[in-house]
Amino acid sequence: MGRKLTIAIDGPAGGGKSSVARGVAERLGYVYVDTGAIYRAVAYLAMEAGLSVEQDAEEIGALAGEMSVEFRRVDDAQHIFVDGADLEEQVRLPEVGAMSSPVSALPRVRESLLSVQRELARGAGCIVEGRDIGTVVLPDAEVKVFLTASAEERARRRLLQLREKHPDVTFEEVLANQIERDRRDSSRDVAPLRKADDAIEIVSDGIGLAEVIEQVCRIAAEEEAETSA
Ligand code: C5P
Repeated sequence: MGRKLTIAIDGPAGGGKSSVARGVAERLGYVYVDTGAIYRAVAYLAMEAGLSVEQDAEEIGALAGEMSVEFRRVDDAQHIFVDGADLEEQVRLPEVGAMSSPVSALPRVRESLLSVQRELARGAGCIVEGRDIGTVVLPDAEVKVFLTASAEERARRRLLQLREKHPDVTFEEVLANQIERDRRDSSRDVAPLRKADDAIEIVSDGIGLAEVIEQVCRIAAEEEAETSA
């Protein structure tokens, strides 16, 4: 086994980043850091405190700066713990997901979460997933992957997930929502979603999850071999 690396995976919602990052972390015995869950946690705490993005940006920024975040394994899955409480279920609620997008556009929140994310990624052997990991959070990561898929493909995958709980939702609704989220994430002033110049782009249309995991592990193995030669 060679040197352990830091791997950054960025890309738009629905590109498969979480499943790929989880799979790669398992294969390589790496720590997996899901930064989207941290933004979701800030949104959840803000909602609980009755704060609004438009009126309480300062308070929400302060919340992000004060919380302590940890990822722990619970029954074979990774959960996010904030100030010692397991918030995994809460952060996945659709209303929390919807609020996490405007919350993540607040400069104070992004700034507060920089050190939180860097601390979680400290020490080699981690895979960090988000939108601005290769560009802003960990610009020195040894491996950078930009994982994407066409908006239609991502909406199709999202629809399959949503149908379990919301049988009435249509493809057109999901696609419109996806396009709006992409637009907001790539056009915000602070740390917009963008491929790092030195990232390898993987477009996952028509490629299975196992194959994408394989590709990322191969890229990591090549980097390991190169740097330990
Ligand atoms: O990836 P996930 O959907 O869990 O991310 C939740 C929200 O957090 C997204 O709307 C995205 O805008 C934001 N986010 C971010 N930067 C990251 C990770 C997530 O702005 N590094």
